[in-house]
Amino acid sequence: MHAITNSGWIEVVTGSMFSGKTEELLRRLRRAEIAGQEVAVFKPAVDDRYGEATVGSHVGRQWNASVVPSQGEGVWEIREELNGHDVVAIDEANFFSADLVEVSQRLADDGRRVVVSGIDQTYRGEPFEPLPQLMAVAEYVDKLQAICAQCGEPATRNQRLVGGEPAHADDPTIVVGAEESYEARCRNCHILRRD
Ligand SMILES: [Zn+2]
Repeated sequence: MHAITNSGWIEVVTGSMFSGKTEELLRRLRRAEIAGQEVAVFKPAVDDRYGEATVGSHVGRQWNASVVPSQGEGVWEIREELNGHDVVAIDEANFFSADLVEVSQRLADDGRRVVVSGIDQTYRGEPFEPLPQLMAVAEYVDKLQAICAQCGEPATRNQRLVGGEPAHADDPTIVVGAEESYEARCRNCHILRRD
């Protein structure tokens, strides 16, 4: 492989839901592609579904992504699938275990540009690993804001709604397939039920 520079690095694109993280990721990948660089894109497996998927279902073109295990030793499949790729992108990074930090570090040590995108806070407004660790070891961090669905100010938080009502603090962080919705909210408008 030919590295872009003598060393690789890690870029993190983070922020709340609806802040344009994936669009920013795709923008960076398009620029790399135009420069003739080889790009590989990965997503975490949810519900044990592996194989091919796409990144970027909302706006603009999509990228084909490999779906890899999100927990434990399986996260290393990202490195095993690479050949001469200059750029490695990982979307929905918040669904990976902390193993993603070590994998990303290794990829950057190999001389690759690693672009990681994911949410940095849980719906409770707490740090959502592994993004905080990735932000600490990254060379570059961009934290994007959405627009608060309640008041229109910059939003950094994920408001979870269950049946249209703010979720309870004791709910599990990730519920696959639950009847719930999310909206971006600012600190003032973010509500966490504790009753
Ligand atoms: Zn607000």
